[in-house]
Order: sequence, then C-alpha cells, then structure tokens
Amino acid sequence: MRLAVLKERRAGETRVAATPETVKKLAALGLSVAVESGAGLAAGFPDAAYREAGAEIASDAAGALAGAKIVLKVRAPLGRGEGPVDELGLIPRGALLIGTLEAVGNPSRAQSYAEAGLEACSMELLPRITRAQSMDVLSSQANLAGYRAVVEAAAAFDKGFPMLMTAAGTIPAANVFVMGAGVAGLQAIATGRRLGGRVSATDVRPAAKEEIKSLGASFVGVENDEMAQAQTAGGYAKEMSEDYRRKQAEVIAAAVARADVVICTALVQGRKAPTLLGAEMVNSMKPGSVVVDIAADAGGNCALTVPGEAITTEGGVKILGWRNWPGRIPAAASALYARNLLTFLSTFWDKEAGAPKLPQEDEIVRGVTLTRGGAVVHPMLAQAPA
Ligand code: NAD
Repeated sequence: MRLAVLKERRAGETRVAATPETVKKLAALGLSVAVESGAGLAAGFPDAAYREAGAEIASDAAGALAGAKIVLKVRAPLGRGEGPVDELGLIPRGALLIGTLEAVGNPSRAQSYAEAGLEACSMELLPRITRAQSMDVLSSQANLAGYRAVVEAAAAFDKGFPMLMTAAGTIPAANVFVMGAGVAGLQAIATGRRLGGRVSATDVRPAAKEEIKSLGASFVGVENDEMAQAQTAGGYAKEMSEDYRRKQAEVIAAAVARADVVICTALVQGRKAPTLLGAEMVNSMKPGSVVVDIAADAGGNCALTVPGEAITTEGGVKILGWRNWPGRIPAAASALYARNLLTFLSTFWDKEAGAPKLPQEDEIVRGVTLTRGGAVVHPMLAQAPA
C-alpha cells in the first residue's frame, strides 16, 4: 500500500508531515512511502535523508500521489485555484487523508473531500483524552509554540530575563505575564522561569490556577462562580461573559503594567480568540517591553496585534504577531507532528490486512473523521437531514 507525503504549499508553512524517522517506521508497517521532492527541506530534512530511510522521492505532487491510498499532510491540501497545484484533485478517490485540515471554519472544504471520495481525518479535532495524548497534534505543536514564543520574546527584549548581578551593577529579572495557561501557556511559564524571569499568569479554568502555581508562577485572575463553571466537558475554556472579562481586565491591568514581557496564548475552541490586552493596557507598558501574541492565528489576544507582523507602538512596545508559531521551530514541530500521525496510523493498523482500520465506534476515530463514503459525517459539520 502506497503512502504519499506532500510538500506543504500554504503560505509560511515550514513543517512536514513525515520525517526520515517516521518514514522508517511507516515502511516497517509494510507501506511503500513516496515523498515529494523538497517536502522536508524547510524543516531541515533533505530528500537524501528520506531516501536513506526507505522512501521513494517523487519529483512532484502528481508523482507522489499516483496510486496513493494514504496521504499525510500538515495543512489542508490546496484545492483548484488555491495555488500552483490542485493537490486535492490529484489525490486518488478512496484515499485516507490525514492532516490538520481546519474544516470546521471552512465547511466547503469538508464538502470537497466528500465529493472527492476521500476518508478525511482532521487531527485538530482529536478528543483530549488520555488514550489520545500521543496523537495529540494540538498539544505537541502548542507546547513548542509556547517555548518558541518566550525564546523570541527574550531575543526581542533589550534587557535580560534573569537577574544579573555584576561588578558594574545589577540588572533586575524580567517580569513575564502569561495570558492563558493551557498547553502553550504552561510551556511559556516553564520557559520563562528557566530563563530566570519572574512569571505570573492568568486563566479562567479552575484547574489552570493549580497548574500555574505548580510551575512556580503566581496566579492573577478573577475567582468567582463563573470561573468555577468555565471549563467545558472537553476540557476547553468557555467564552466568558462581558462582565467577567471587565472584572478580569481590572485585575490583570496591574500585572500588565508591571510586565516587561506578555505572552498571549488564550483561545476558545471554534471562536475568535478573546481580546484580553486592550490598547490602554499596552500603552501602560514601559518602552522596550515585548508582547508576543501566539493567538494571532485566531485574531490575537492583544487589540493592537497585526496578525503576521511585528510592530512597535508609539510608546515603544514591540508586538510580535507572527502566525504559525510551531512553524517557527520547524524541525522539532515536524518531528513531533510526524510522530503524532504515525501513532494514529499504527494504533488503527490492521496487521493482517496490511491497511488502516478506522472503527467508527472508537471515540478517537469518530472525533477526527470528517468524511467517509462520500459524505460529511463529523457532527460539527454534518447537516441535519432535510
Ligand atoms: P486552548 O489552546 O484552547 O486555550 C489556551 C488557554 O486559554 C486555555 O487554558 C484556556 O482556559 C485559556 N483561556 C481561554 N479564554 C481565556 C480568557 N478569557 N482568559 C484567560 N485565559 C483564557 O487550550 P489547550 O492548551 O488546547 O488546552 C485545553 C484543555 O485540554 C486543557 O484543559 C488541557 O489541560 C486539556 N488537555 C488535555 C489533554 C489530554 O488529556 N489528552 C491534552 C492536552 C490538553
């Protein structure tokens, strides 16, 4: 059975869905792996490394996809008119397509997979359950994004993170404030602490408060009845009321004014990211302070963020609003993403058939399956029958 790995063509995407390490393991399952030439280059994996791992290198997407029964992607394949190659049109009917397909915000995408006869699995929809942890692309990528955000903040900050006591005098430790303490935020807290910063953080989920404190940071937030109810059954934050956000803004304003560095990571599943850092708060920060908004892909937590850009305000605050933070650390992000996909495939691998078997009664499979048998089946997308 042939498995294809394509070069990512969406703007700014540097990651790749399989590495030489996972190619070896995919081959060990009995798959013949075809990698499009140049697929791993931006992540530091040359064609030769894939060839050595047992892959065939195809000169273009059409060559890689010819006869493929499984296709691994980071982002959704380009459709007709979306770029230089109609990747979707080249995927053979009946193939299993696995990636972060982001179809919930783009329902026509799921429809096009159904029409193309694909079994499409969108890994960002994976249920956040213990059994699925090793396949959890959101976690693996958010973890690296949180790390990278702090490293880039430290590079953009004109002072140091740790307290530096020198013969020429003392440089105080940086005050780092982290907004949102999910996977990315907790890694940002840990990285900020490792660099020697004094770290505090805010979140709305009660469990997050304990996690923030267990990492040695202080918690800043509004603890009321609404916070007690702020977590959904899936573990995500609910969208908070206007009243809560007003109270939260009052409480966090002092932390922001004190902060040298603010790392924004707050997200609400399926919604625009909450605006937590208003213009006034940014203007209260000292010149030379840094805001890193890794929620920029979802609109940003900072009102002044320009998604995709780094700006400096008139008050001298730098705001890094780059998109795709995992893509800024592509070798590690690809290594973990590729292992997530490998684990998914090998968990549902039927050894006797030498093929994947995706039982729809399984919670993980049901969670990620967008389309099968020519129809959109995911509950977040499937239309009720007329
Ligand atoms: P996320 O990326 O959806 O959001 C990031 C953080 O922003 C969250 O902690 C959220 O509570 C916070 N947030 C949202 N609105 C906010 C606001 N108004 N103010 C401040 N903070 C706000 O979250 P995530 O990192 O994907 O984690 C989601 C949940 O999944 C967490 O409970 C996490 O522990 C859980 N999780 C479970 C597993 C597992 O068991 N397999 C794996 C990973 C994550």
